[in-house]
Amino acid sequence: MTVLRLFTRPSCLDNFYFASALVFLGFRISKFGLKIYVSDFVNLIPGLRVLISLKQHRAVFLDRDGTICEDVGYLNSVEQIQLIPRAAEAIRRLNEKGFKTVMVTNQSGVARGFFPESRLKEIHFELTRLLREEEAFLDGVYYCPHYPDEGEEPYRRICECRKPAPGLLLQAAEDLDLDLPASFMIGDHYSDVECAQRVGAQGILVLTGHGQEALLKKENWPSLPSIIVPDLYEAVRWIIFNGEKG
Ligand SMILES: [Mg+2]
Ligand SMILES: [Zn+2]
Repeated sequence: MTVLRLFTRPSCLDNFYFASALVFLGFRISKFGLKIYVSDFVNLIPGLRVLISLKQHRAVFLDRDGTICEDVGYLNSVEQIQLIPRAAEAIRRLNEKGFKTVMVTNQSGVARGFFPESRLKEIHFELTRLLREEEAFLDGVYYCPHYPDEGEEPYRRICECRKPAPGLLLQAAEDLDLDLPASFMIGDHYSDVECAQRVGAQGILVLTGHGQEALLKKENWPSLPSIIVPDLYEAVRWIIFNGEKG
């Protein structure tokens, strides 16, 4: 993809990168045209890996209720949105450090008939507006409106996107070119941690929202979160500290 982009957007700098990439990949130009010699495949494979990793981004996936905003239980109007203290500041810090920020949220209230999907979109529009007011930006918002055994079609079904199923993370990774094993998921339920671990990302539990209740069931956890922290701001501090250390 990167090579194609260089072809379609030529500039001095791009040509330089393209030429460097050719050299790095082990291409040879002969009078018969462009050739890749068999021995060069040894160079080609690590070269391609570098090109692929260059276009991938580290992400921090963020649960919504109990992590970014207060969990009021099936939040169904924009007036109920209340940001958790320092949540916007935390997201702003992630933006500054170059992480993609992606909200991933289970919203079975749609399947259960508590509010329509259009209301959910209004709520997310308002939530992102409130964050923008504090110069905090989300690169993506993904939600699961399903529930396996309540409500009506098409929302009543076993899906691949209700956390801890990893569908939302996988979709975001495809849309935003994310490097999942280098990414993190922050949430107040163990299912958030489990969801992260299913895609090879690190799961972080926050003690806002239902976090304290989740902690009481610690004995049942098949594996531990990477860290347990008081809130989103502390989770982000930990991610940035560890990222800079590594
Ligand atoms: Mg939550
Ligand atoms: Zn779903």
